[in-house]
Amino acid sequence: MKKPTLMNPILVLLFFSTIGIKAQESWIDNSKHSGLIELNTDYPFKVLVSNDTTNNTTETLKNMNNAKLYFDKTFQTNLKFAVLFIENKKWNTYAYFPPPGLPQAGSGNVILGLDKSIVSMEVEKMLKKLPEQHLGKLKSVYGNNIDLDLFYRETLSIHELAHLYHFKEGTKPQRKWLQELFATMSMYAFIKNNCNTCYDLMDTYPEFMIASGDQMAEFKTLKDFEEKYVQKLTPQNYEWFQMQFYKTAKSIIDSKNDTVLLKLLHFLIRTDLDKTHKLSDIELTSRLTEEVGKEMGDILTNWKYK
Ligand SMILES: [Zn+2]
Repeated sequence: MKKPTLMNPILVLLFFSTIGIKAQESWIDNSKHSGLIELNTDYPFKVLVSNDTTNNTTETLKNMNNAKLYFDKTFQTNLKFAVLFIENKKWNTYAYFPPPGLPQAGSGNVILGLDKSIVSMEVEKMLKKLPEQHLGKLKSVYGNNIDLDLFYRETLSIHELAHLYHFKEGTKPQRKWLQELFATMSMYAFIKNNCNTCYDLMDTYPEFMIASGDQMAEFKTLKDFEEKYVQKLTPQNYEWFQMQFYKTAKSIIDSKNDTVLLKLLHFLIRTDLDKTHKLSDIELTSRLTEEVGKEMGDILTNWKYK
């Protein structure tokens, strides 16, 4: 008869924890990595670039790593993912969708621009047409030339990373506005609590856009956002929605701090459309109120445009 040893349970444990790591790593879509150059870093995530002569990734990676530490702790996990930096001319080969340079995330990858993003270029062009007196605050935060990649890349990369924490467990949320709000609330909470130097970069451009009013938005209801989303809204109208979500996220995190985030993550996962039926607006309002908090349930009720 074989003598039982202490080693066996340990081996079994090791075996299962290896499976755990494998399962996590296999969620990363490696097909996006072929042809890219891997950078040597001390970070716990893989970093790949489409060109290793452009050296503008240091600050972004430091922030991504700090955000990972914060999100892992907040969401009680250790998320595996890869960060890809892609030049505009190679964007369509590696990214999931346009426009070149605008952060996006999916299947374990965060995809960021290596060049100036097309969106930043367009918006900067538009801003330069405005009278000088409107630009003072933007210049004091984004520099005299108003470099909006400090918002579109440095800030939105954190929003995209936050998406991966729910994408890992489900990609069909009850509402798209709810997943966008989750990512923006997570981004806002991380920057507010852990990245003082990033706060103005995150806050100034959205506040500027919010103050400029609603004339950019043809569609304004949450139903419009669900039906039209990225594909059927103009970029300005899509951005208008994201700015409203920013305003909402800011007020919720400022009043509740970050305790709401884990509850909201679990809610997104629990009610993913792969697991449950589509809730009506009334059902969603009451379940959000019960399972996440009143301030979340109130969003549908209080949305200014019906
Ligand atoms: Zn998003």
